[in-house]
Amino acid sequence: MKLAYEAEDEAFRAELITFLDQNTPTEVGTRDFGSDGSDGEDIVPEWSRKWQAQLFDAGWMVPAFPPELGGRNCTPVQTLIYLEEIARRGVPRSLHFPGYAIVSPSLLEYGTDEQKKLVPAAVRGDTIWCIGMSEPNAGSDLAGLRTRAEVHDDAFVVNGQKVWTSYAQVAQKCCLYVRTNPDVPKHKGISLLIVDMDTPGIEIRPLRHITGAAEFAEVFFDDVIVPRENLVGDLNDGWRLTQGSLAHERAGLWVEGVARLEQSILALVDLAKRLGADRDPVVRREIAAAYENAASLRALGYKGFASFAQGSSAPEHSYMKMATSEASQAVFELGTKIQGSYGAVVDSERGEENGRWIRGFFTSFAGTIAGGTSQIQRNIIAQRILGLPRS
Ligand SMILES: Cc1cc2nc3c(=O)[nH]c(=O)nc-3n(C[C@H](O)[C@H](O)[C@H](O)COP(=O)(O)OP(=O)(O)OC[C@H]3O[C@@H](n4cnc5c(N)ncnc54)[C@H](O)[C@@H]3O)c2cc1C
Repeated sequence: MKLAYEAEDEAFRAELITFLDQNTPTEVGTRDFGSDGSDGEDIVPEWSRKWQAQLFDAGWMVPAFPPELGGRNCTPVQTLIYLEEIARRGVPRSLHFPGYAIVSPSLLEYGTDEQKKLVPAAVRGDTIWCIGMSEPNAGSDLAGLRTRAEVHDDAFVVNGQKVWTSYAQVAQKCCLYVRTNPDVPKHKGISLLIVDMDTPGIEIRPLRHITGAAEFAEVFFDDVIVPRENLVGDLNDGWRLTQGSLAHERAGLWVEGVARLEQSILALVDLAKRLGADRDPVVRREIAAAYENAASLRALGYKGFASFAQGSSAPEHSYMKMATSEASQAVFELGTKIQGSYGAVVDSERGEENGRWIRGFFTSFAGTIAGGTSQIQRNIIAQRILGLPRS
């Protein structure tokens, strides 16, 4: 078993660390580890736009991409090192992930030559994208979506509603999943359209999280005309395209979740010491269990990565998103509980750390829902990994 990186990988790490030391914006240091990813009202602040463009120009935005797409053609191991270093420092690459993480890989794989031209601006953050999948009656059961696009010779006419559309209020473009054939089994009648968010007939109504941030919105479509050339892939073949995300980063995506979990456990130890809760045997046991859990998750992540790097599938990774989001939730809940009634107070004088723990607790629910709820992840693990029958 080898537990060390090669010399060229350590050189890659050193170059990255130098870049981060010299360029990381000061705003990054003031962000909360329990944050919901946005900065309050300003969901994509100016400093984060500049930072994303700077990362792109220096080849550090998506390192596995070629230089013209903001990368440096790095290897999978170097991608893991990159994800580890930025997660360890709590440095966000971007405050709006759909463009670089979901839209770009889909357009590169399925888009026309014209559509592929949209990719550099999506990765650099010059264009903000949103993803219109979920609807009031189609979330976990995404294939049940009903937003309708009637097909005409040179255009689609879209009517319907999306919900929980992150960044809709600041996005210029949307990857919109629509029903183009209602008369076939539900997975077979879905198509993917690129929609300009300033097209007449689109209404955006922001929705507030329990934390107060308004990062997502309801989006209504009333006879919205979308040019035919904005269809991505083939007509009625949109279901296949719902799985797009950075394949070369998938094996390392757990790193951020584990790093945030570890950071919150260290902060919890500090909090418990300050409040004298570190002498309570129940609290001590819970903190120790959280620490042990985080260490096991890190080991499991590396094990899965090793399989991936050798070309095998890594079923461990289906488990990581669910496990890290639920473990984080437990840590924030404990941090809130050990403060007693002041735990619920957002107040710089009386609330410990100005409500950071209760905010982190509320925010943690997003991680257990977005991108597939924990219950759905459990169904997937039961059927695809453990081979159990459908219930
Ligand atoms: C922070 C955040 C950002 C989001 N951003 C976007 C976005 O940008 N674009 C977008 O399209 N969507 C977005 N979503 C929506 C997200 O994808 C959905 O919330 C998610 O898929 C769940 O769908 P739902 O909310 O309709 O819940 P439902 O599917 O109605 O589920 C309700 C409950 O029933 C459970 N359940 C449902 N089906 C089953 C089953 N078969 N077995 C067991 N339990 C089940 C679920 O686990 C859940 O607890 C976002 C969500 C969050 C929290």
